[in-house]
Amino acid sequence: MSRNVKCLIIGSGPAGYMAGVYTARADLKPLLIEGMQQGGQLTITNEVENFPGFPGGAGGPVIMDKLREQALKLGVEMQPKMVTKVDFSSRPFHCLLDDGEEVVAETVIVATGASARWLHLPGENEYRGFGVSTCATCDGNFFRNRTTVVIGGGDTALEDALYLAKLCTKVYVVHRRDQFRGTVALQKSVLATPNIEVVWSHVPVEILGEQKGFIKKVTGLKVKHVQTGEERTLEVDGVFEAIGVVPTTELFKGQLDMNEQGYLITAPDSTRTNVEGVFAAGDVQDPVFRQAVIAAGTGSMAGIEASRFLMEKE
Ligand code: NAP
Repeated sequence: MSRNVKCLIIGSGPAGYMAGVYTARADLKPLLIEGMQQGGQLTITNEVENFPGFPGGAGGPVIMDKLREQALKLGVEMQPKMVTKVDFSSRPFHCLLDDGEEVVAETVIVATGASARWLHLPGENEYRGFGVSTCATCDGNFFRNRTTVVIGGGDTALEDALYLAKLCTKVYVVHRRDQFRGTVALQKSVLATPNIEVVWSHVPVEILGEQKGFIKKVTGLKVKHVQTGEERTLEVDGVFEAIGVVPTTELFKGQLDMNEQGYLITAPDSTRTNVEGVFAAGDVQDPVFRQAVIAAGTGSMAGIEASRFLMEKE
């Protein structure tokens, strides 16, 4: 089965939905492939204070529902599928979906975002899903009245620590430096929360756990002081890794230019990639800011650029 579209949007975060809004208004009748995590990273963010239009802050899923609804109302067609293969060697571009359907697209907007990075610590694989997680919002509830540790010093780590502190008896934050990277407001809140203890200048070494029959559980995190090398074990029931993200660009390797970290490279002041007719927006091409509002902005840019590109070709 094959169908032709003027614009295919891959990804359903703020960038994808806003690319949909702009291309739908330009009458490109966009098809948006939503992927596995409809709504993207914001759907696992508990409280967002810095997205425009939500003066009291809002949960990430609430914001994404609104963006999705707006795109749907303007006529964006959405499908809960995955793109499994793309061929950008000539235009129109051939893209394969996970149900076997082929989409032949005159333009493509890549808005596949990024996902949590793992530390690859000893014990991590063994206890992943049994006390090791990268998503406090998803898994925090399993640790009510228990002790957890968050690894990292960025916005995600600080937000996760604050979220967990409301559920857990105690939350450690292990950070490899003596200063946080995250926003000052979050830093202040973390430092003022009585049941959060920051373990400065330590790196995680190993996740410890035990298995009884089929039941596995985390029992601790071994950490090491970065200067002295001294090791200690934090007795915890849950380990939350919050050490940043990796862009979702595997699908485009060998076809779109990327930097050494895998972020797609776009032309200055533009969302154009090295392939004429393929645009990239949001976290997939943003190693610097990685904010939802900026993803929404670059998604809008990609929508405008895709429609102008097609107008010039007609
Ligand atoms: P991030 O800003 O890249 O921070 C990652 C943290 O993990 C840093 O503190 C880093 O330490 C630490 N880290 C990295 N690799 C490590 C390793 N191998 N071992 C130990 N620690 C390690 O990532 P993020 O917090 O996920 O945030 C990503 C982006 O999303 C940022 O731009 C952030 O502003 C944005 N964000 C915004 C909000 C919001 O505005 N509400 C919420 C969440 C995220 P160093 O500091 O030493 O490098």
